[in-house]
Amino acid sequence: MRKVNLVLILVLIALTNLLSNVNAARNIKDRLEPSSWWIGFKNPVVQLMAYSEDIGLLRPEINHPGLTIKRIIGVENPNYLFIDVLIDEKAKPGVVEILFKDGNKVRKTMSLQLNERKKGSARRQGFNSSDAIYLLMPDRFANGDPTNDDVEGMLEKADRKAPYGRHGGDLKGIMNHLDYIADMGFTAIWINPVLENDMPESSYHGYATTDYYKIDPRYGTNEDYKKLVEMANSKGLKVIKDMIFNHCGSKHWWMDDLPSDDWINYDGFVRSNYRLSTISDPNASRADLKLATEGWFDTSMPDLNLRNELLLNYLIQNSIWWIEYAGLQGIRQDTYPYPDKHGMAEWNKRINLEYPNFNIVGEAWIGEPSKLCYWQKDFPNSDGFNSHLKTIMDFPLMDAMHIAFNEKGGGWSDGLIRLYNVLADDHLYPDVNNMLVFPENHDVGRIFTILKEDPRKMKMVTAFFATIRGIPQWYYGSEILMTGNGYDGHAHIRHDFPGGWPGDEINAFTSKGRTDEQNEMVDYLSKILNFRKNSKAIHHGKTLHFVPENNVYVYFRYLEDEAVMVILNNSDNEARTISGKRFDEILSQYSKGTDVLTGENLSALDSFKIDAKSAKIIELK
Ligand code: CA
Repeated sequence: MRKVNLVLILVLIALTNLLSNVNAARNIKDRLEPSSWWIGFKNPVVQLMAYSEDIGLLRPEINHPGLTIKRIIGVENPNYLFIDVLIDEKAKPGVVEILFKDGNKVRKTMSLQLNERKKGSARRQGFNSSDAIYLLMPDRFANGDPTNDDVEGMLEKADRKAPYGRHGGDLKGIMNHLDYIADMGFTAIWINPVLENDMPESSYHGYATTDYYKIDPRYGTNEDYKKLVEMANSKGLKVIKDMIFNHCGSKHWWMDDLPSDDWINYDGFVRSNYRLSTISDPNASRADLKLATEGWFDTSMPDLNLRNELLLNYLIQNSIWWIEYAGLQGIRQDTYPYPDKHGMAEWNKRINLEYPNFNIVGEAWIGEPSKLCYWQKDFPNSDGFNSHLKTIMDFPLMDAMHIAFNEKGGGWSDGLIRLYNVLADDHLYPDVNNMLVFPENHDVGRIFTILKEDPRKMKMVTAFFATIRGIPQWYYGSEILMTGNGYDGHAHIRHDFPGGWPGDEINAFTSKGRTDEQNEMVDYLSKILNFRKNSKAIHHGKTLHFVPENNVYVYFRYLEDEAVMVILNNSDNEARTISGKRFDEILSQYSKGTDVLTGENLSALDSFKIDAKSAKIIELK
């Protein structure tokens, strides 16, 4: 052997050792994702992502009845290998061994659990306008298991005194209070994200995912999550999972060893300009659009590039995995317009293909109906884009609720006319029943604080959100009049629910633990939501409304042979008597009604008396 070759070989050996040392330092943990899948999907191919040192240099092989490898995809990083596996309808359930070979030698084995689908799984009914949703933040709702508050090896420890720390709430805490939620008349829960967020700080909110297939151990296990969904379903509560595809957490396991350079947008932190209008604006510059959709949402949240087909497919399968595994009825997708819109449309289509009655709500935080409508399925956009997203959040209506009840009214466009004006834009939406209607959520000021802590206004906003078209969504704690100013920071609108922690002095989960004022609010909300449960006119009736006059707004929700009349009187201290004459076009079909809130029977509909700062809901027969 010539000397120069020997030197070359020695250098190569040294390099190889160096590389494997780097990998050892990285502590590569073998992964196969998904690690389980099902037989009988409309799309019979599952794409496995295998992660292990130099696995990309090996050749996978499967010998299992009904399974065929269709495609093997290597990427820049040899520690990844993507494998498309075709699953025949008659495939045998059980453990599937995947052999990774180097020539004839098996260097590695991974296993995939193959399951049969539950009967009726594809036909599951997603949430819709017959539902009322209770949104809760799991770290702040109830601590059912103090032993999981701290988990060894995880970066952030519990600290209930820290406003932005982890407080210890968990899945067990939610399970313990499902009856509390169901008794108020809610039929669905949206839980803020529960996937692992092994971040050094502020991990309580859950929006920086570090593992897409694992429930954060401080909330419980994957099994616990599945159990929670079963329990909730058995009590008449659908479950909506909060997901985030725009970004992951900077401590996500793949951030140390990305499959390819184009897995994330930008090499490091570049802040998004958050200008969502650039996506629908025909006049927008490419530079502004790029920054909006490819800039990072926050310093600790790398922006995922959904134009990478492998990543997009990974996330689509991840959603299907959670729906099938846990038995979900819905998904709420965070920061909806920020990722690649075509990838997101594909995601909706693929989920609808497997679950046609499923529902997804996207957080398109846009205050103008003319821009918001771009994002609802089947809107005839001039650029030809169809989002395939069934449900959008009605931020314009939320904004109006925040102002309308605080204004004196009397002008051309203030007071309750704000609500009227937003609804006048309903012609823009392809499906008004699939608008999520909410006075607040976990990102804005507490509605009771916004309404200047006036319980009468709280009641009016409650009557409104629960009877207007769309899918109503409430935020935990507002039923006990929790306060918090959004401008003070997120911690102030995400306080612990009193009574959720062992040793709490007050337990507001029980009527005994609540003040009279709180009980009145809980009772008011419960009465309306329990009535709503059986009102088809509210679920999917049309809306007929009359221009507000003298601070009084009257609208009807109606079907062919039933109707609900709602009267809101926002005047400060004047009771009003309004004549039925003005509403003749609908009232002439009815002769009597029932006041939903008082139970009083109305034998005539020629005039209605309504107290100042109050709402009346009348079921017409
Ligand atoms: Ca706990």
